Amino acid sequence: MSIEKIKTLIIGSGPAGYTAAIYASRADLRPVVYTGMEPGGQLTTTTEVDNFPGYPNGIDGPQMMNELKQQAERFGTDVRIGEATKVNFTKESEGYHEITINNEKIIHAKTVIISTGASAKYLGLESEQRLIGGGVSACAVCDGFFYKNQEVAIVGGGDTAAEEATYLSNICSKVTMLVRKDHMRASKAMQHRVNSRENIELKYNSEVKEVLGENVVEGLKIINNKTNEIEEISITGFFVAIGHKPNTDIFKGQLEMDETGYILTEGKSTKTNYPGVFASGDVQDKEYRQAVTAAGTGCMAALDAERYLATIGH
Ligand code: NDP
Repeated sequence: MSIEKIKTLIIGSGPAGYTAAIYASRADLRPVVYTGMEPGGQLTTTTEVDNFPGYPNGIDGPQMMNELKQQAERFGTDVRIGEATKVNFTKESEGYHEITINNEKIIHAKTVIISTGASAKYLGLESEQRLIGGGVSACAVCDGFFYKNQEVAIVGGGDTAAEEATYLSNICSKVTMLVRKDHMRASKAMQHRVNSRENIELKYNSEVKEVLGENVVEGLKIINNKTNEIEEISITGFFVAIGHKPNTDIFKGQLEMDETGYILTEGKSTKTNYPGVFASGDVQDKEYRQAVTAAGTGCMAALDAERYLATIGH
């Protein structure tokens, strides 16, 4: 296998990865970005992005990611299609972190910025998967606006579902919240907010059997898992808020993570438990998960990498 030695490797190509690349390339770290299997990240599955500062008329998600890529390339970032399949980090400041790409190429990098993001969990129904982009969304803050004054439903009983149901209730005429157990997992404060909204209807013991509609969402078929009663409701938007999975499987056993697999970073920095290895974006943030916050931590990771290289004399 050929080995390539570089200063900075960035794994992942969402807003965090590309922003890290813009800063790292301007600092002359000559970064290499490996895009991962979903070049551009989660935003490429969104249509309009209306909440990223600097785009007064909104921007198409894939277009925004392409522009971020071009901005990174303008300063010399080497963007490559490929996936990190194995990592072997080192604690030696003289050593190199070893990353295998596509099981066939080895990179030795002095610094590594991990921006592999997180993936929204879906129920896994065929009808749900078919209608992603046609009324099924995993991000109320991104897509809620398209359902202004319309009736929508949201599935999930955690803090995200409760927060997003409350968010949607400000925009939509009615929100049906479907919780599979007879209680919510969300904090009491969040539950209180949901209960205080007149236009949120809570349905406990409720599971989605099918999302109805050919090309766009028209309704839901719901089953009550206590009574087995089946019901159909009319909606135009269906939001899935059953959690996210950080893309950290290949780092397990090396990087410190919380119990759900999010990478832990030191204080306000992007430092992981390995010197020279930094984490930015959704892979280390389960709370905010916005493009703009991911971009902000991408910038921090590049600055942290630059400072680290300076301290070890590179
Ligand atoms: P959680 O894992 O906390 O909750 C997931 C919810 O989805 C649970 O109610 C779960 O049900 C339900 N669920 C899972 N799979 C299915 C399924 N197949 N069908 C139906 N329902 C399903 O994820 P969250 O994204 O809500 O939160 C993640 C973390 O982020 C938590 O620690 C949370 O506290 C935190 N957070 C904090 C916020 C804040 O403080 N402002 C805002 C948002 C998140 P069940 O309970 O039955 O397992």
